[in-house]
Amino acid sequence: MTFLRFVRILRQVEATSSRRATVALLAEALAELPPAEIPAAVLLLQGRIAPPFTGIELGLAEIEAARALATAAQVSEETVRQQLSQLGDLGQVAEQLLPPRPGGLTLAEVHTALLAIAHEHGAGAAGRKRAALADLLRRASPEEARYLLRIATGTLRVGVGDATLLEALACALLPAGRTALPVLERAYALTSDLAYVATLAQQGEAALRDVRLQVGKPVRMMLAERLPTPEAILDRLGSHQAEYKYDGERIQVHSDGSQFVIYSRRGERVTHQFPDLLAAWQATPHLPFILEAEAVVVDPDSGALLPFQRVLNRRVKHLTPALLEAHPLKGFVFDLLHLAGEDLITLPYRERRARLEAFLPSSPRWALAAARPVASPEELTAFFTEAVQAGAEGLVCKAWEGPYTAGERSTLWIKYKGPTAGRLADTLDLVIVGAWWGRGRRGGRYGSVLLAVYNAQEDRFETISRLGAGFSDEDLRQRLPALLDPLRRQDPPPRVLAALQPDVWFEPAIVCEVQAQELTRSPLHTAGRGQLGERGLALRFPRFVRFREEKGPYEATTVEEVLALAQASGIPLQ
Ligand code: ATP
Repeated sequence: MTFLRFVRILRQVEATSSRRATVALLAEALAELPPAEIPAAVLLLQGRIAPPFTGIELGLAEIEAARALATAAQVSEETVRQQLSQLGDLGQVAEQLLPPRPGGLTLAEVHTALLAIAHEHGAGAAGRKRAALADLLRRASPEEARYLLRIATGTLRVGVGDATLLEALACALLPAGRTALPVLERAYALTSDLAYVATLAQQGEAALRDVRLQVGKPVRMMLAERLPTPEAILDRLGSHQAEYKYDGERIQVHSDGSQFVIYSRRGERVTHQFPDLLAAWQATPHLPFILEAEAVVVDPDSGALLPFQRVLNRRVKHLTPALLEAHPLKGFVFDLLHLAGEDLITLPYRERRARLEAFLPSSPRWALAAARPVASPEELTAFFTEAVQAGAEGLVCKAWEGPYTAGERSTLWIKYKGPTAGRLADTLDLVIVGAWWGRGRRGGRYGSVLLAVYNAQEDRFETISRLGAGFSDEDLRQRLPALLDPLRRQDPPPRVLAALQPDVWFEPAIVCEVQAQELTRSPLHTAGRGQLGERGLALRFPRFVRFREEKGPYEATTVEEVLALAQASGIPLQ
């Protein structure tokens, strides 16, 4: 496929707000592609050149891309900089500066060239990357260049979720079409690799069904539901096992028997953030495994659990020995998904836990998640109190017979964070889609933001709250502009459903955690409109808690979850 054709498809997708129409558009485009180009197309549709777990990133800063553009357009860097400050988008600058010409790139060529740029390392790499990008730009039409630059700088956000892409793949590649979607979804949940799943889909359903876990490809994580009371949890699970809910960062550790890789909740490679945890195991001989744990910062002297905020202190570019010592981590392991060639995810929790207890290599840096069998609300409450006193956030209650349901929020795990007097049973993780300018002390800055939940069925974001309370001065002065300015756009993003009109719109990307007192119904918000009609769900007295950098927009709280919360809080839904 020519790159121009691909760009035209991207344009159409970007302008489409209906999920059904997007699936049809993508399926048509995928069916048109030669089989060998489908994996590259799937990646580029997500604005990527390789899956996130590979750690392969283009790594081109805007300033470097701007210099490449200056070379390709034969203008000074100053000219590019000036235009950039006027237009705010390097892609648009390219469209203006490059001479009109037809362009002759193919999709495969662009993907291969961008991968080669990503692989440039060592002395002089920056110069070579720039030169290679300038070379591509010289061969591109202005329209192609606009998209090339957005991909190169990691700012192409077409707004298509994985679920929509999977559905399009099913429609385009499998004879059974949409009905075969669960098979594709499972293969994706086990490997997090859309390009690989696309390749398998071309071989047919049987190839997809044969997918096994692979050390080196993250399993999409199983998530927990929430219920408000110990009684409700016992009603749902009966006798079960409760574990401490540690308040740290979830990690998935893969080992092939000698080398370790750690993946974040979003399936990104984050091994470099945990050298101390891995050092503790490096010397221990062990079998290949995949396990999950919560990494928590502990007090260097007492070993007590410290709050999540302390994990953030370690998220710096260069972890120095002093930082590692000041914020030592401990990994609390709670699941074993694979051991020595055997996939364990279909086994009941009871057996996985027993296998984990027998397997876990001992080390002062690692421990089993504290767990206790629970048969009554009183026992659950007593264990909850103990957990909170030990510095945990609450409990995760697990059905004895539950398999590990990759990529799903499941009723087999239920989180409990304690009694909820005067506030909602849990915080919500919401996506910022717009903002209003502040007044008075907040003048000239974003003063409040418009927040949305994710509707996975429709692959769109529906608003639930306007939020101004809880931001610190530093958030308002620095963090909000730094996070949001690059995401600004003039018109509402097509996949945002809003009734309010903020001063500024943003691409949905930034997630923040919000505590509220309760849920109500409001004509100003659109969350749950599909189910509820004109008055969507809204938050009362929302308050900012923290940014959730480890979550992307598709990991935000979903419409189904707020509907369940509303039901649990007795809000009339009719
Ligand atoms: P929250 O915002 O409440 O931390 P979340 O949206 O990040 O939740 P959920 O799946 O809803 O994720 O809640 C379970 C989370 O709790 C897991 O993602 C994991 O990070 C953390 N956790 C801590 N201890 C455990 C445990 N023993 N078993 C499972 N998950 C645990």
